[in-house]
Amino acid sequence: MREVDVLVAGGGPAGCTTAAAMAQLGLRTLLADAGQDRRKQLAGELLHPIGVEELTAFGFSEVLRSGGAPIIGFAVVDGEKTALLPYAPGNRGLGIEHHALVTPLLDVLEKRGDVEVRRRSRVALVSDGPDGVEVTLSREGQSERVRTRMLVAADGRASPLRRSLGIAEQHVRLSTMIGVMVEASALPHAGRGHLFIGGPAPVLAYPISDSQARVMVDLPLGSSPERVRTEQEILSGVPEPLRQAILVALQREAPLVASNDTRIMDQVYKGHVVLVGDAAGCCHPLSASGMASAVRDARVLHRVMAEASNDVPRALAAYARARRPANRTRIALASSLYEAFSSDAGEMAALRSGLFRYWERSPTGLRISMSLLSTRETRMSVMAREYARVVAHGLLALGAGGVRAVQGPRRAMHAGALLVASALPHLRTAMAGVVEDRILALPAPHVPAADEPLAPSRASASRS
Ligand SMILES: Cc1cc2nc3c(=O)[nH]c(=O)nc-3n(C[C@H](O)[C@H](O)[C@H](O)COP(=O)(O)OP(=O)(O)OC[C@H]3O[C@@H](n4cnc5c(N)ncnc54)[C@H](O)[C@@H]3O)c2cc1C
Repeated sequence: MREVDVLVAGGGPAGCTTAAAMAQLGLRTLLADAGQDRRKQLAGELLHPIGVEELTAFGFSEVLRSGGAPIIGFAVVDGEKTALLPYAPGNRGLGIEHHALVTPLLDVLEKRGDVEVRRRSRVALVSDGPDGVEVTLSREGQSERVRTRMLVAADGRASPLRRSLGIAEQHVRLSTMIGVMVEASALPHAGRGHLFIGGPAPVLAYPISDSQARVMVDLPLGSSPERVRTEQEILSGVPEPLRQAILVALQREAPLVASNDTRIMDQVYKGHVVLVGDAAGCCHPLSASGMASAVRDARVLHRVMAEASNDVPRALAAYARARRPANRTRIALASSLYEAFSSDAGEMAALRSGLFRYWERSPTGLRISMSLLSTRETRMSVMAREYARVVAHGLLALGAGGVRAVQGPRRAMHAGALLVASALPHLRTAMAGVVEDRILALPAPHVPAADEPLAPSRASASRS
């Protein structure tokens, strides 16, 4: 039977970077990808600076140079109001068509030769024993058994491997996304990711080349794309000429469609199998953080494997601890923002007003918000503090009669009470996260290596 150190299942951003990371450690690495057609997929196209930096560090800089458009930050647009959120000075993200970013990652790995790449090959788990995992690789009716010391499940958010391990998840289906291509000149702010939040649901847009931009419209679950044309109120938060450009694009082409989900896993490893990227958790794409998070997983796995001298059980216990804070903060942020941006309730209108009131008064607030969205800032304590500030500004906006959807003192008081009530679960989650961050920062319990002699227990030590 064929034997390798690491077998990576999945050739998306998470799988390719993890395979590169494991090869950098000198491990015999095989990557098998089932080969989904990325041209037909609506998925990640805005890569935050941290993702650009990590892809460069893992040797994929030629892919980043091959196209796309530089991104300098976000523009959040709510009717007449616009907030420009900057990346840190010198930081650049990249907007690029999904297949143009991801397909060449596999090509680079194959060309470099330090990772064996199997295309159109599907991985299935056979067994997990004390020394590693046995899997089958299937391609066009042929199958081969492979034994690996570690199996990396980078097989996307539906992750068949995660399911076959029986790892439980909390799964919430949020909405349906449709995506079309428009001319980049239709975007109001060049070089920025855009979030239009003045309509019934958020609309996302970003340049993906010098001349083109992707626009994604968030629709209620199960909606057909036709709804954007028949209910033009849906685009009421999008200014001209972009709104017209979306409608023209919808007449010209069938849009790409995807579902938006939140998935939180109970575990990110089991035995010798570890989950990375979307397989380990995902959230609504309004923060465009999925790919940055996927390559961060590769970085964390690289570090813990190096620190544990490639001892898989020790490394995976450390991986679960190390990746948790950043991932939990990212999912909590996306969930609270999606709620604020997609609801027409008075208290959420107040929260949106609070956000703009805060940003208008605090250039630092603009920077920290961008830092949280782009996953550069991962501390739950920072997210909790910023969220509380926005709620406070929302209450002040209500008090000053500055929330258009909530007029009159009685309605403002009612909306204020509901705003506080709606903020409490988010703040509770955030505070629990702060406490957990503190606990995770304590030294990890020692997991003995397989060949390490057991230390005498206290009782036997005191007896001797
Ligand atoms: C509408 C939408 C917009 C988004 N926009 C952004 C954005 O702007 N920025 C951003 O950073 N993120 C965005 N994301 C999220 C981003 O697309 C994902 O986070 C990212 O693609 C996850 O990468 P991955 O490698 O974990 O999984 P995937 O990209 O899903 O790759 C999984 C791979 O595993 C393969 N596979 C599956 N099963 C097997 C098997 N059994 N054996 C072998 N291979 C297998 C598949 O063929 C596939 O190639 C968006 C997501 C959606 C839905």
